[in-house]
Amino acid sequence: MSKKWVYLFSEVDQAEKYVGGQWEDVRGLLGGKGANLAEMVRIGVPVPAGFTITTEACNTYLASGETFPEGMWEQVLLAVKNLEKDSGKKFGDPKKPLLVSCRSGAKFSMPGMMDTILNIGLNDETAVGLVELTGNEHFVYDSFRRLIQMFGSVVKGVPDEVFEEIISKYRSRARVKTDAELTAEDLKELTEEFKQIFRRYTTISFPSDPYEQLKMATDAVFKSWNGKRAVDYRNASAIPHDLGTAVNIVAMVFGNLGDDCVTGVALTRNGTTGESQIEGDYLKNAQGEDVVAGIRQTMDLSELRQEMPNIYAEFEQIVKQLEKHYREMQDVEFTVESGKLWMLQTRSGKRTAQAAVRIAVEMAEEKLITKQEAVLRITPEQVDFFLHPQFERKAIAAAKSEGALLATGLNVSPGAAVGIVAFDADLAEMWTKEEDKKVIMVRPETKPDDVHGMLAAQGILTSRGGRTSHAALVARQFGKPAVVGVSELEIDINKRHMIINDDTIKEGDWISLDGTAGEVYSGQLKTVVPDIMDPWLIKLLSWADKFRRLGVWTNADNPDDAQRARTYGAEGIGLCRTEHMFFEARRLPYLHKMIMSDLPIERREALDALLPFQRDDFAGLFRAMDGLPVITRLIDPPLHEFLPDHMELNHDLTDLKIRIKHADTLEKVDTLLQQINEKALVLKRVESLHESNPMLGLRGVRLGIQIPELTTMQVRAIFEAACMVTKEGVEVHPEIMIPLTSHVNELKVQREILEVEAKKVMREQGIEIDYKFGTMIEIPRAALTAHQLVEHAQFFSFGTNDLTQTTFGMSRDDAEAGFLIRYLRTRILPENPFATIDRDGVGQLMALAVKKARSINPELEFGICGEHAGDPQSISFCHEIGLTYVSCSPYRVPVARLAAAHAALLDKNPAMKNRLAK
Ligand code: ADP
Ligand code: MG
Ligand code: MG
Repeated sequence: MSKKWVYLFSEVDQAEKYVGGQWEDVRGLLGGKGANLAEMVRIGVPVPAGFTITTEACNTYLASGETFPEGMWEQVLLAVKNLEKDSGKKFGDPKKPLLVSCRSGAKFSMPGMMDTILNIGLNDETAVGLVELTGNEHFVYDSFRRLIQMFGSVVKGVPDEVFEEIISKYRSRARVKTDAELTAEDLKELTEEFKQIFRRYTTISFPSDPYEQLKMATDAVFKSWNGKRAVDYRNASAIPHDLGTAVNIVAMVFGNLGDDCVTGVALTRNGTTGESQIEGDYLKNAQGEDVVAGIRQTMDLSELRQEMPNIYAEFEQIVKQLEKHYREMQDVEFTVESGKLWMLQTRSGKRTAQAAVRIAVEMAEEKLITKQEAVLRITPEQVDFFLHPQFERKAIAAAKSEGALLATGLNVSPGAAVGIVAFDADLAEMWTKEEDKKVIMVRPETKPDDVHGMLAAQGILTSRGGRTSHAALVARQFGKPAVVGVSELEIDINKRHMIINDDTIKEGDWISLDGTAGEVYSGQLKTVVPDIMDPWLIKLLSWADKFRRLGVWTNADNPDDAQRARTYGAEGIGLCRTEHMFFEARRLPYLHKMIMSDLPIERREALDALLPFQRDDFAGLFRAMDGLPVITRLIDPPLHEFLPDHMELNHDLTDLKIRIKHADTLEKVDTLLQQINEKALVLKRVESLHESNPMLGLRGVRLGIQIPELTTMQVRAIFEAACMVTKEGVEVHPEIMIPLTSHVNELKVQREILEVEAKKVMREQGIEIDYKFGTMIEIPRAALTAHQLVEHAQFFSFGTNDLTQTTFGMSRDDAEAGFLIRYLRTRILPENPFATIDRDGVGQLMALAVKKARSINPELEFGICGEHAGDPQSISFCHEIGLTYVSCSPYRVPVARLAAAHAALLDKNPAMKNRLAK
């Protein structure tokens, strides 16, 4: 006997046995649609009789030069006999004809696969017979013309428009709006015209033999697996190309037989909000595809409850049963033929992020799934969705169809932003603060001195830069939607406009940014704001907290951020970057003075002036984090970053010199001279601080060793703040972190300076503060000598940005603006190592450092504060190597809580992977 290529819907047990018992594999063999139809039969749901030709048959067909596998057609004929017996009708019988549909169905639902052909089996003879049988000529010729149309376009590629053109001609001739209103006579004529079109386009007659129709349709489904639409879709959604598609042949049931017939689609829960209430649309006297085609105004399913209460009750009971059986919200298709309900399809339903969360939580509460499953069913992206405003789906579709989509860039920070264009930071801030305008800041790229504008803006758009460019980093840190690297974007700062492809946008014009998709639109798109305080999300994340082992901390430099992160669930501050505190306008002059001065006494003065500022900053953070640890990193960047740019200074100097030439009073000459002298001094300092490789130069702990006063001042500020808030009754846990250590001796030296000062402050204040001293691990040497460093540190934190730079020996800014793009495109690097931890290289160093450090101190607190700490894949790795916590930007905290729970659940039970949301 030849292989079994065909399974009746009633033979799902056999199929299951053949594949070895796993439902996933049944879906692989019969396709999603076929497997679920068979499953519905098995659990007693009314489904029209039918059978499935397997994906194996498809694959064999494709492998053998497009011929049906041996024995397959014979099995199809036998299966048709079975349908005949079941229905009491006969395929091709003029008296009592059986009609069938031919439906493709791969393992994964693939829009773009072959369309379904309905009403196979109709020809001139069977049509006459069916009229006699049903007494409904309108129905029969409506079905017939549909068959020719679908068969023509799907099997033979006849353009649909030519059919539609004729129908609309008929409609206007009859002065009616819908096809349903055409007379039987019209439809009969239409059928003849359709046959002619078919012949004209295909050079063959429309096949009148039902078996020939069935054969050609099956052949076309198999072929469609390698059609361009299908291949493109699989490439885009990473579906393997070797799965093949199944073919489902299903006895027709008719929703277009009269007014006691309907056809419809439904979701078992609300796909937008998740509310546990069936929602759907239906049409009276219509065939299935009319509902989705949108040619007739559909009715709300709630009306069916009134119109056909018995049918509705049965329907409700069935979909509840399906939901319970699949333990998932279902998307179903159904048809009522002359008062009898048939289910035609079921699959898990698409939903928004909000709906997904609510459905998962409520299903767990209904005990349909476990809490673990509920947590695993939500993706990090879905949690992220709650943190940012989004464009309405309708608004996006409308904008696209109107041609308002200007360009697509890198989607580096999610969310939607609408505002008027401002080309510099000062203007962005001014418009926002003084004129209460909403602004999108547009720059070629951004720098640290653009931050005030970025903070003021709704969103950020740049023409250059990559995923971890300054703009992207800051945007993510502050939850600002951003699109970067839009190469078509040209900014003409003199003309105050930008050109994107053919569109010119002036400063002050409205644009809309979709940071989630990386898209830039002209005009104002409508947004909706999801709520992070969504009660179902809060519940889901509280479950996630119980399952995770990793702590989730945050990177925050100011009390507002700290407070926000805390509401999002942060359990500590893993990184406070103190240098951010210096950039503020009132403080920068003191820092300048400190840098410019050679005299220790002057330096001290400048630092003393900075101290109160820093103390207040820390006090604010400690109050916000009452009871939780706060890690403060001592100053890290090279000093020249705080001074004006070299080029700018030169430019200013030349300017001043020209002006002195034209000065007409001695007084003016004097002031100008003085200015020149000052600038020259700064320039000299800038030049002396100049380094060829600042990233590898005087920064981090090296700076603290070079200028110990700086360390002392910062430590004093931290401890004075700690004592101050302790007196207020706040519980403080300061941790002081040294950046960029590579040798244990650096740590020793810094620790001495630090402890002396800390003790001094505590003695002055008469308060003992419980603090920790630790370091970042961000240089390979530090990772390799973690067992030495740990002798002088009570905690470690991976700075994976620098660790990635130093391990790869590539500067991130240079890489991302240049060669890394090519590396990623040509897959020399499979992933951007600055976005996701490079397991094989950087990851090895991390694992080693953890092992070495914990061999000396098993209790060591070991975290990560690099940008990777907000990336779900990297979080999973951090769980694996046993880190204590991940510390990410406030807006990533909820995402990290979920990702950490996923890592822990999958670690305990790898089989859960199948339960992950697809
Ligand atoms: P899709 O995957 O595009 O939804 P389907 O195979 O589900 O395609 O079919 C398209 C439409 O035809 C659906 O509305 C479906 O319910 C309807 N349909 C398919 N087979 C039959 C049948 N045997 N009897 C009645 N309607 C059918
Ligand atoms: Mg369908
Ligand atoms: Mg660093």
